[in-house]
Amino acid sequence: MLKQEDSQRLNAYMKKAEERSKYFIGYPIAQDFDYSELYPLLKLPLNNVGDPQVESTYDLNSRSLEQEVLKFFAELFHAPAANWWGYVTNGGSEGNLYGLYVAREIYPNGIVYYSEATHYSVQKNIQLLNCNSIVIRTQHNGEMDYEDLSQMLQMHRDQPVIILANIGTTMTEAKDDLSKIKAILRSLAIKNHYIHCDAALAGTYSAALELEPGFDFNYGADSLAISGHKFIGSPIPCGLVMVKKNYKERIGKNIPYIGTIDTTISGSRNGHSPVFLWYAIKKLGIEGLKERALICLEHAAYLRRRFTELGVSAWSNPFALTVVFPAPSLSLRQKWQLATEDGHSHVICMPGVSIEQLDEFLEDYKAELVKDKEVAAVL
Ligand SMILES: *Cc1c(COP(=O)(O)O)cnc(C)c1O
Repeated sequence: MLKQEDSQRLNAYMKKAEERSKYFIGYPIAQDFDYSELYPLLKLPLNNVGDPQVESTYDLNSRSLEQEVLKFFAELFHAPAANWWGYVTNGGSEGNLYGLYVAREIYPNGIVYYSEATHYSVQKNIQLLNCNSIVIRTQHNGEMDYEDLSQMLQMHRDQPVIILANIGTTMTEAKDDLSKIKAILRSLAIKNHYIHCDAALAGTYSAALELEPGFDFNYGADSLAISGHKFIGSPIPCGLVMVKKNYKERIGKNIPYIGTIDTTISGSRNGHSPVFLWYAIKKLGIEGLKERALICLEHAAYLRRRFTELGVSAWSNPFALTVVFPAPSLSLRQKWQLATEDGHSHVICMPGVSIEQLDEFLEDYKAELVKDKEVAAVL
């Protein structure tokens, strides 16, 4: 039993969290999940330590469900039959670290090329791996500047190339085009290359809707990472990384203590999140994922239309759930938890963001516009 003051403290925190979840439209996190059927599992210390495909003496795990989740995504991402491997991670960052780790094992003196719109975790990953890297300029929409990429590659033609492609950048949800990148590699006759796709944000719904430009194994990815807590939704951050199996076989030691192979970044791995992901994909299926994505796209279109009616220049990349617009005041940004960069904020119309929330946000935004106009008139 908690002491009364601690119990009060906890209740206050829980109320606050609940309240803040109503104003959560700026981060790419789905909130429409219901995993209550799985709550009894919270009593168990599930742990998928080590390789998901190799049984462990730590049998209190969810490996069998994790493998079904991996198989679902292997199909979704057209992974080469019998030549893929992956695991459920703690999120997109870990998946990117793993993809780059595999790339560096294959090309120890490779250079990592990534655009300036890349997620902050990638730079940290590159430092951890002690790789050389070059930052590529972006176009206005946040997509890689292929001209700049081409020039940089040309200058370093003698060194293997590791491309970190964005499938949905953090701020504008821009997608780098693998077919353009591959055409550049081909034209420069660069044979030693590796492409990792950071599909943390947009990977799941882009694949479900078969959006162009494609980014999966069919389109030339050697590995890719997604987040599980973003579009699918999970109370615990999670994700998934997938690589071609023959690459991954360079990594991993047999560890007698856990009776399995140490092929993953962290040792102990969350055993609950694979169950959440399994539950979500079984409940939704591809059709359900598509339906959810289409609703989100409609919401994004609605928000852009309403902004236009207010005379505000809001925009999105094609088939993006992210709507970019001039940043409102700090207090509005805090209230609605809006990420802001270079004077622009975004709302991400993830599953669970409702029209009512968008309307309420627009009311707040509009009130500031009116106030600004009044101030301008007085001046
Ligand atoms: C969210 C995100 C990441 C990091 O994922 P985490 O799950 O937060 O570790 C990486 N890249 C992009 C583009 C993202 O949107």
